Amino acid sequence: PRYIGETPETVLHRVFGFASFRGLQEEAVRTVMNDEDALVLMPTGGGKSLCYQVPALCREGVGLIISPLIALMEDQVAGLRQLGVRAAALHSEMEYQDQLTVQEDLTCDQLDLLYISPERLLTPYSLNLLKRCRLSLIAIDEAHCVSAWGHDFRPEYRELAHLKQRFPHVPRIALTATADPRTRRDILTALDMPDAHIFMGSFHRENLFLQAQPKIAEMQQVLTALSRHMGQGAAIIYCGSRKKTELMARQLREKGYTAFAFHAGMSPADKRAVLLRFRSGEPMVIAATIAFGMGIDRPDVRTVIHLEMPTSPEGYYQQIGRAGRDGEASHTLLLYSGEGVARARYWLDESQAPESEKKAMQGRLESMISLTETTGCRTQAVLACFGESLNEPCGHCDNCLNPPSTFDATEAAQKVLST
Ligand code: ADP
Ligand code: MG
Repeated sequence: PRYIGETPETVLHRVFGFASFRGLQEEAVRTVMNDEDALVLMPTGGGKSLCYQVPALCREGVGLIISPLIALMEDQVAGLRQLGVRAAALHSEMEYQDQLTVQEDLTCDQLDLLYISPERLLTPYSLNLLKRCRLSLIAIDEAHCVSAWGHDFRPEYRELAHLKQRFPHVPRIALTATADPRTRRDILTALDMPDAHIFMGSFHRENLFLQAQPKIAEMQQVLTALSRHMGQGAAIIYCGSRKKTELMARQLREKGYTAFAFHAGMSPADKRAVLLRFRSGEPMVIAATIAFGMGIDRPDVRTVIHLEMPTSPEGYYQQIGRAGRDGEASHTLLLYSGEGVARARYWLDESQAPESEKKAMQGRLESMISLTETTGCRTQAVLACFGESLNEPCGHCDNCLNPPSTFDATEAAQKVLST
């Protein structure tokens, strides 16, 4: 209410304290302001949140943000409240009394932004409640969760297709850091937004150093990378199994590191405790499965290490993208082995997924394998998977820094001829 009618620029300055929009933010905001749908594709750390937060504050009504993770919602709400924005979350892990308070605020027009989990939104109760409210926009964050061929598929996201009929005059904005063309198409189809304007930022992250090494002496390689790159920041080590995360964390503690395991099999309380420590900013290593990720936005993750090859370039890029969100130089290391590659192929082969999905997953696995084995610029190779071409080799990957020695027959022949 205090901002309704203000321009997006004014809200950007006054509420968020930023001098100007970054990249495609301005156009994405303008699209929503014009009541049109948008799909925003930007890398992690690119600044997607402002694309819906700013128009939600300028427009009449409450902005509804669908978010897949409770931790993610709570972070955002806490940050917004500090800025004086009337934000709240609704999800199943809240105390009943708190849920009631939020619902009351909502019906009395006391909220600018409401973060809600998809399963909560889709209850008849919530839908009825929202039907009676004025909505400024609907944002679908982490929209790749709608895609069955993605790495974070959430079946509830599928049901979001109905939002168009339920709230026909409310502009929708879908946001994700996953940019491969197939996921993009899936999002537009599954959310029923064929006319959405698409805003795709560059996925090139100049502060990330990309390195891959054959796994020879895993622990030694990990320790070397940590001592060279972690500094006073944090490190994430992605492990192939829950058991491995525990083992790795224990071994690192024995070496004097503050280290914790994180995986989906831990109790919510244990997970929360690890996340709290992680956010506190003290130097530490998290040994995790890929359950650790979405929405983790500690700015000073200085290194991300993979002990196993990810199963797709999208997953790989999203995971290493958690490094260096503060823009400072950060290091990423992928350890791979022939055995690991063979195992990944085998698991996929044995998978019960429908044949078409299996084909797609195999395609992505093979792209990941070539990306791992490339002797060319690694950044160019990974960006190519998202349909983005980088004109020059990046200069911040292992292959650019130390070109793998290849015998150049032409050059050798020229030498012979010129002597
Ligand atoms: P994403 O959701 O794309 O991963 P966020 O929305 O969390 O990224 O933004 C990442 C960081 O960039 C945040 O710390 C945010 O405050 C900052 N940021 C976003 N837009 C701007 C801007 N226009 N000017 C300065 N900082 C920005
Ligand atoms: Mg985000």
